[in-house]
Amino acid sequence: MADCDVVIVGAGPSGLLLACLLAQSSVSVIVFEKGAGRDDRSRAIGIHPPGLAALRTAGIDDAFRAEARVLSGGTVTSRGRMLAELDFEPGHEVLTVPQARTHALLGERLAELAPDAVRTGMRVRDVVPAGATARVLVGRDGREDEISARAVVVADGVHSGIRDKLRVPWHRIPGSADYTMLDVVDAPPDDRARLHLEPDGVVESFPLPGRGRRWVTRERARALRTTTSFAQTVLARTGLDIGDPGDAEPQRFRAGQHRAARLVHGQIVLLGDAAHEISPIGGQGMNLAWIAACRLAVALTERSDRDAALSAYERVSLRAAAVAQRRARFNMAMGAPMPAAARSARDAAVRILARGGTGRRLLGTMTMSGL
Ligand SMILES: Cc1cc2nc3c(=O)[nH]c(=O)nc-3n(C[C@H](O)[C@H](O)[C@H](O)COP(=O)(O)OP(=O)(O)OC[C@H]3O[C@@H](n4cnc5c(N)ncnc54)[C@H](O)[C@@H]3O)c2cc1C
Repeated sequence: MADCDVVIVGAGPSGLLLACLLAQSSVSVIVFEKGAGRDDRSRAIGIHPPGLAALRTAGIDDAFRAEARVLSGGTVTSRGRMLAELDFEPGHEVLTVPQARTHALLGERLAELAPDAVRTGMRVRDVVPAGATARVLVGRDGREDEISARAVVVADGVHSGIRDKLRVPWHRIPGSADYTMLDVVDAPPDDRARLHLEPDGVVESFPLPGRGRRWVTRERARALRTTTSFAQTVLARTGLDIGDPGDAEPQRFRAGQHRAARLVHGQIVLLGDAAHEISPIGGQGMNLAWIAACRLAVALTERSDRDAALSAYERVSLRAAAVAQRRARFNMAMGAPMPAAARSARDAAVRILARGGTGRRLLGTMTMSGL
């Protein structure tokens, strides 16, 4: 007899949403989080229609909508010329919410559904298969405890220590480049995503709630920029002023992609970034994790043949991750610095792709349809 139904390792967006879905189905769930339970890092902002649908399943889409900025569409330009202008269909818009607020909203919902579910300051040291259950070794202040569960979900992020302990191969997938981003607090009003395909690399910008805006620049190599040099780069490439950055500092990040060879090991299951790293360019990682969390919640509540349900979770989730990684790789390739001849061919291709039926399909891939 296990101590609880499901233990989740990690209270990131993947672990928290799954915990909400399980608690809603009266499954007893404990979430161990090594940190203090707050995540102020500026990472995910984009919530796509399938991600919002996952939040709806957990009864929190309205709370997200109330805080979000709703994007009306996007444009693609190159050296000041418009290549494509796309409008989101009503009801299929992309929303933006800073990840720190996403974290807080998910945490509040879980506290309503299962007030004692999250245990902060608890680092999971190991997860060991034990027949029809799994044992979780968890430490706090030098003390070690052990708890057994009918299933353990490993949602401890891209550098997952538990995935390594399970010796799951972590395959590198093509698509890697360096970027810098800055979230400014006061930018001119504009509710559209803007992609500027410039000779020295793409500049992207996205509206944030309030008057904010996220700017992202592709770098030729790892660069450490000041706010001034970041603003100068955007101005030099696009002629645009980024607005007022307030106290924010530019952050550099290397976009990379990986996929675990397997997601299911007996009663231990990988979820979210621990299962697959998707390049942030295109904003799909967290949304994909939420879509997978909905599938996993169904599999974990399956009474007749849970092993078959978990195999289906693994198969469908790895396939969806492969599709998302191909789309992210395409996004990154389009924004690479390139010589004049290649740029002309790319710009012509973008114009053609954005027309009629292919334009609607392009919009679909940009908003994660089919995943
Ligand atoms: C710059 C950037 C921009 C992005 N933009 C977007 C976007 O717009 N849209 C989108 O969908 N995605 C985006 N992403 C991706 C998104 O941030 C991730 O996919 C998402 O955070 C993954 O959530 P997770 O819960 O799987 O992992 P994490 O958010 O990494 O959470 C893992 C949690 O596990 C905890 N933990 C780790 N080890 C242990 C342990 N041993 N014991 C207990 N707890 C542990 C950690 O403290 C952490 O809280 C972006 C990423 C970056 C870097």
